[in-house]
Amino acid sequence: MTLYRPKSLEEFIGQSRIKKELKIYLSSIKERGEIFPHTLFVGAPGLGKTTLAKIIAYELRRDLKITSGPVLDKVGTLAAVLTNLKEKDLLFIDEIHRMPKPCQEILYTAMEDFALDIVIGKGNAGKTIRLSLSPFTLIGATNKPNLCLSPLLDRFQLFFKLDYYSEEELKEIIIKVGKKWNLELEEKVALNLAKASKGIPRQALNILRRLRDFVLVNYKSDKSIKITEKDGEAFLKLLDVDDWGLTPEDRRCLLTLYKEFKGGPVGLTSLALSAQITPEEMETIYEPALIRLGLIARTKRGRILTKKGYAYLKEKFKLNENEGFPCLFSN
Ligand code: ADP
Repeated sequence: MTLYRPKSLEEFIGQSRIKKELKIYLSSIKERGEIFPHTLFVGAPGLGKTTLAKIIAYELRRDLKITSGPVLDKVGTLAAVLTNLKEKDLLFIDEIHRMPKPCQEILYTAMEDFALDIVIGKGNAGKTIRLSLSPFTLIGATNKPNLCLSPLLDRFQLFFKLDYYSEEELKEIIIKVGKKWNLELEEKVALNLAKASKGIPRQALNILRRLRDFVLVNYKSDKSIKITEKDGEAFLKLLDVDDWGLTPEDRRCLLTLYKEFKGGPVGLTSLALSAQITPEEMETIYEPALIRLGLIARTKRGRILTKKGYAYLKEKFKLNENEGFPCLFSN
């Protein structure tokens, strides 16, 4: 099974404002044969930042070199990448905030002047030489722009913040990719999978891949296979996803917040570690989804369980009524 990746803006579902803006830039830059402006995509992992960079390269028919912040950890490595770029090439740096500061400094000079200042030798004998670079475009991706040096942020001419996707958009992605993978999904099934996808296309595709394995275990044919509501229900039951679209991890977060922290407020890291979820995943996958569903809320003092969150737990777990924590009802 091939990895699915939309190749054009038309194929890319959701993020309509970003697409509209990119379409305008792409057509005018294509027409004038200019260098594409340095662009920064901000958003959680799996929302489509790499895909958009690939689309820009594809639409402009230009070469795209893909690398990441942790790989560019030495000035020499970065210099080698930059000096190998050809005119109008695109350089995509994922997790750009993870580049060490000296590398970020080199990068922002390179972005502005298309030149590299390299120090040769040490102490008094050391001298700086300037290497010129081919004019290129930098496309950065990050979920933590605040960890980038501000002169680096200032050098980006275009800045796009990717939102989490709606259930309808994820449903559309699931049906479309399903077709490519020979799965015909009923709308209701696709919507239920979308609900469990946490607003993130990568999660949606992971679930769809598992569904495919689930239904194809005993099916050996190239013809497409229809996934009925019954199949969908059996699959979600296997994953232990409930009718609210919540996974065991979501339930663990809510129960931990209720039982161990008396409904909060509690800091993100403490909650994540107690619920056995990495703080990174808690921040980018679980917390945003639970907030969107109105089950938890973010306050100045930390995360709290909402009334709706409490109602959910009451519905799913037999809570002791007398155990109700006062803070739960003040929100
Ligand atoms: P990021 O770079 O933000 O981590 P990716 O661009 O790698 O995310 O996307 C993760 C997966 O989700 C890829 O397989 C990609 O094809 C798919 N994907 C992302 N956004 C969309 C979208 N809007 N429509 C369809 N598929 C998408």
